[in-house]
Amino acid sequence: MRIDGRTKLAGVVGWPIDRTLSPAMHNAVYEALELNWVYLPLSVPDQRGLVRLVDAVRSLSFVGFNVTMPYKQAILPLCDEVAMFAQMADAVNTVHWVDGTLVGYNTDGRGLIDALKTEVGFDPAGKSAVIIGAGGAAGAAVVGLIVGKAASVTLVNRSVERAEAVVERMRPYLRGVAAAALRLDRTAREAVQSADLVINATPVGMVDGDPSPVPPEWLHEGQVICDMIYQRPETDLMRVARDAGATVMGGLPMLVEQGALAIEIWSGTSQLKVPRDVMRRAAEDALARPALAENER
Ligand code: NAP
Repeated sequence: MRIDGRTKLAGVVGWPIDRTLSPAMHNAVYEALELNWVYLPLSVPDQRGLVRLVDAVRSLSFVGFNVTMPYKQAILPLCDEVAMFAQMADAVNTVHWVDGTLVGYNTDGRGLIDALKTEVGFDPAGKSAVIIGAGGAAGAAVVGLIVGKAASVTLVNRSVERAEAVVERMRPYLRGVAAAALRLDRTAREAVQSADLVINATPVGMVDGDPSPVPPEWLHEGQVICDMIYQRPETDLMRVARDAGATVMGGLPMLVEQGALAIEIWSGTSQLKVPRDVMRRAAEDALARPALAENER
């Protein structure tokens, strides 16, 4: 990797950040594209640190940065402008530093939809979807499904009030998509069973031994099951869905897509085509490294 006086900076802001795959994924593709950029983990322990980081970005040669847990909402008021999809999701995962302005975007929703199309050939247009969870990732998934013209989206969450709040927030943007909120218990059975697409947008499955967030008997052939978790090659949800004959996608293709879309934004041109395969390989290699595997335990 070339680092010189013209090298531009990028990175990912979060806490904790020790398990991030993004530096491996981004630096590999910058090299492949001969971009004189470097991508760093930007470990920020608290809100004060986030404000200081944003100040630093404004005076350094950043192209932008990604934002991960727990700052996807906290970054919103620190941006000068927030793009429509990020406003809808109420979360920013990509910030572009351009012409003295910090512009917040959310590439998770489109990343999810693009990954579903390329990885498992699923187009959400006219389809019914259930999202388990009601946090930032679930909000971004709702945005992706609205843009992808899904027929219906049901948010199923442990605390149903949070799911209801997301549906209310999305109401002005729904464009004819039917939206509902349910509690994550037996009342969600019919919605999950009749859904074409079921997405896990909770961290349940991240740790070895975590059970599937929905009972295996609710899943069946003909459904697409997507687990946003990317730290493990197969979660319990993915295993039981596969056993039930469903089509299964893990979180890695979405992680790669949202990262590639961020690079396309930072490049400032629609001409740059980011090779997803390079990013995917680098992420898989990083996941296979013992240090990350140890962290997982
Ligand atoms: P978040 O804002 O903290 O939301 C977490 C959600 O999970 C909430 O709805 C929460 O329910 C639910 N939840 C947490 N623990 C639970 C449990 N034990 N049982 C049932 N529900 C539980 O997190 P987020 O940012 O949305 O991220 C969610 C997941 O998506 C994470 O695993 C993250 O790594 C993943 N993700 C992946 C990608 C990708 O590119 N593949 C992108 C973004 C996020 P309550 O509201 O009841 O607390």
